[in-house]
Amino acid sequence: MTETPVADERMAAVAALKQRFQAFINGEVIPLEPLLEAGGEAAAKAMAELKARAKELGLWALGHPAEIGGGGLPFMDFVYMNEVIGRSWYGQQAVGSISMQDSIMLHRYGSQMQQERWLRPLVDGDIYPSVGLTEPEVAGSDPTLMRTTAVLDGDEWVINGHKWFTSGANIAAFTTVFCETEPQQRKHAKFSSIIVPTDTPGYRIERVVPTMGSTLGGHCEVRLDNVRVPRENLLGGRGQGFVIAQKRLGPGRIFHCMRWLGQAQRAFELMCEYAKVRYAHGSMLAEKGEIQRYVAESAAEIQAARLMTLDAARLMDAGDEARVQISLIKFWGARMLHNVIDRAIQVHGALGVTSDTPLEHMYREARFARIYDGPDEVHRMVVARQLLKDPVGNAPW
Ligand SMILES: Cc1cc2nc3c(=O)[nH]c(=O)nc-3n(C[C@H](O)[C@H](O)[C@H](O)COP(=O)(O)OP(=O)(O)OC[C@H]3O[C@@H](n4cnc5c(N)ncnc54)[C@H](O)[C@@H]3O)c2cc1C
Repeated sequence: MTETPVADERMAAVAALKQRFQAFINGEVIPLEPLLEAGGEAAAKAMAELKARAKELGLWALGHPAEIGGGGLPFMDFVYMNEVIGRSWYGQQAVGSISMQDSIMLHRYGSQMQQERWLRPLVDGDIYPSVGLTEPEVAGSDPTLMRTTAVLDGDEWVINGHKWFTSGANIAAFTTVFCETEPQQRKHAKFSSIIVPTDTPGYRIERVVPTMGSTLGGHCEVRLDNVRVPRENLLGGRGQGFVIAQKRLGPGRIFHCMRWLGQAQRAFELMCEYAKVRYAHGSMLAEKGEIQRYVAESAAEIQAARLMTLDAARLMDAGDEARVQISLIKFWGARMLHNVIDRAIQVHGALGVTSDTPLEHMYREARFARIYDGPDEVHRMVVARQLLKDPVGNAPW
C-alpha cells in the first residue's frame, strides 16, 4: 500500500524530466538540424553550443554512472528519456548519450586505468568511442567467423585484421577491437576485446564507406597492420569478448528502440498535421478512410512497440537477460519505425521525399535499423528457436 505514492512520485519526476528534455530537443536541437546537416565549422560550433547548453540545463550525460561524472539516472528512468532524445537524430550527441553502450561496457569491465583514460573524457563529451566487430570478408551476423587476431608479444598485443562499419572511427579516440586471442578455445571463448587508440601506428582508416546517410562521423573501413598496444589495454578477461559484446548490445538495443519511438512519434505528428491541411478530391486528407487507416495503424504499431520495449527494459532492469524480449523488439521496433515513416512520406506525396521535411532523412536512417546490431532475420531466428524449444517457458509474456 505504501509503495504507490513512492512509485507515483518517481513517475512524476520521470515525466517532469522528460518534459525538460522535450523542450530542449524540440525547441533548441531540431531547429538547428539543417545547419548541423550541412557540416563544416558552423555545424561544429553549433553542436558545441548545444552541448554547453545541455550542461547548463542539467541535461548532460544523465544516464552515465555518477561516480564517473555522469548524472547517475537509474536505467529505467533513462530508458524513458531516450524516446524524447530520439526525436532528433542529433539528440544523443547534444545531451552526451551517444556513447551510453560504451560507457556501460567500460564501467563494467574497464580497469581503473582504462576508466580514467577513456571513460571520464567520454562522459565529459571530450572524446568519442568506436567499436570494431564487423569485418567485410565474413558475415557480421555470425561474429564467431571473425578473422582479426591478437597475439601477446612480451607486454604488448600485436593486432592484425580488417574491419568495416566501425562507426565514428574517423572522429573517435579509440576503437574497442574484437579479435581472436585464444585460438585453442571453443567457439565463443576464442575472442577478446582490446582498446586501441586510433592514433596507434598501424591503425589505418582506409575510407569512410559511402552510405545512404549518416549523422555522426562515418562508417569506416579500418586496417590493423601489426598494431601494438600494451597488454593492459585488454578489456575484461581473455576470451571474454562475446560476454562483453552481449552486455553492451542488450541495453544498447533498448536505447535504440526507444529512440526509434521518438523518430516514429515525430513522423506520426507530421503525418497528422499535414493530413489536416491538405485538400484533395472534395475533402481534407484527414477525412479520408484510407488516410485514417494510416493514422490508426501507426498509432497501434507505435504503442505496441513502446509497451514491448518497456517490458524488455523492466525485465533487464530486474537482472534478466531478456534475450527473447530484446530480439522481439529489435526486429519489431525497426519494422514499426520503417512503416510509420513510410506512411508519413506517402501522406506528404512528393513533398515527403524532399529535404523540405525531415522525413527523407528519417527514412534513410530507419533503413539502417533493420541491419545494425543484428539483422531482422537473426533476431527472428533467436525468438523462434527459443519458443520452439519451450513455447510456454520461453514465451515473452
Ligand atoms: C548503420 C550501421 C552501423 C554499424 N555500426 C557498426 C559498428 O559501429 N561496429 C561494428 O562492428 N559493426 C557495425 N555495423 C555492422 C552490423 O553490425 C552488421 O552489418 C550486421 O551485424 C550484419 O552483418 P553483415 O553486414 O556482415 O551481414 P551478413 O552477416 O553477411 O548478413 C547478410 C544478410 O544475410 C541475412 N542473414 C544473415 N544471417 C541469417 C540467418 N541466420 N538467417 C537468415 N538470414 C540471415 C540477412 O538478411 C542479412 O542482412 C553497422 C552496420 C550499419 C548498417
